[in-house]
Amino acid sequence: MALFSRKKKDAKAEASQPEPAPQPESVDDPVNGEEVQKKGMLKRLTKAISRTRMVLNRRVLGVVGLGKKIDDDILENLEEAMIEADFGVETSDFLMDVLRGAWKGGKIETTNDILPFLRTDLKKRLTHRGNDLKFAPKSPTVILVVGVNGAGKTTSVAKLAWYLEKSGHHTVLAAADTYRAAAVEQLKTWSERIGCEIVTGADKADPASVAHKGAERALEIGADVLLVDTAGRLHTQKNLMDELRKIRNACAAKKIEGAPHETILVLDSTTGQNAVNQAMMFKEAVEVTGLFLSKLDGTAKGGAVLSINEKVEVPVKFVGLGEQLEDMQPFNADNFVEALFDLESLAESKDTE
Ligand code: GDP
Ligand code: MG
Repeated sequence: MALFSRKKKDAKAEASQPEPAPQPESVDDPVNGEEVQKKGMLKRLTKAISRTRMVLNRRVLGVVGLGKKIDDDILENLEEAMIEADFGVETSDFLMDVLRGAWKGGKIETTNDILPFLRTDLKKRLTHRGNDLKFAPKSPTVILVVGVNGAGKTTSVAKLAWYLEKSGHHTVLAAADTYRAAAVEQLKTWSERIGCEIVTGADKADPASVAHKGAERALEIGADVLLVDTAGRLHTQKNLMDELRKIRNACAAKKIEGAPHETILVLDSTTGQNAVNQAMMFKEAVEVTGLFLSKLDGTAKGGAVLSINEKVEVPVKFVGLGEQLEDMQPFNADNFVEALFDLESLAESKDTE
């Protein structure tokens, strides 16, 4: 009988609940200072994108750094490596055109020249739109977070709130994914861990009304930032896309000029080229001002960052590197490119082969 009297797990318990509050790394350590913090960030990123690097370097290793004269075979090998690391066919083609041009023009001659050339070129491409979060001239800055189901929106909202609070920006959350009670609970739990205020609506409340309430509350308490979490939606769901526009308007609450100041699209990096397509479609429906690439850890498709950057033409502003609050970074193109072509680990993997 006991077997049959076991209660069904309730929906709340099944919701993905965050782990205990993380202990932040020594980012505030006044002794070690900024330099250590920078190195720590590079190390974390390097670790998180190790699978992408492995895929890329397995082939690149046989190509670059050997001081050979560049020829067509070498370039072809490199192109295959890029495609395998999910740079995307178009982006790989494009980069190869750039490399071939540089080779024919005499700017690069041997394989030793390839990486330095690529590094500089990629860094330029990834930074020219500006990767910083834009704050409103007058608080509060309103950040709307959108994306498909499971992309990592709620987790990314929590990470952003934690990051903003840590950098001295008093933050309020609005739980405008009112379709599932579990989604509100998930964000509530995060807000308790972060120690920031959260505005919620009644079950199945109009998401726009929650966003509006959030805006009112942010104004009332003089918050610096309002972060609005939304339900997952697809570009094909016309009613949901219309709803998103309604939420956008509600964010402004008439009194907050220019809100939302950022509309951040969260893309799951593990979906590689699919993320590119998603982004293109969202962009058609709403004005997306920045990308948060979640789940960059544990994917071999990190090269997609590049094709997303090239095709979507919206700057990457943040990357997600795990499930905890501290597992995110503002996107730093220098670090990303260095981590992607980390020569030290390249040499190490050669030694151990
Ligand atoms: P939402 O439906 O878009 O709100 O997605 P959630 O925030 O609920 O996240 C879906 C799943 O992805 C959860 O299990 C998260 O823990 C996980 N997740 C989110 N961001 C990351 C990340 O950067 N890395 C990893 N490994 N998992 C993540
Ligand atoms: Mg969610």
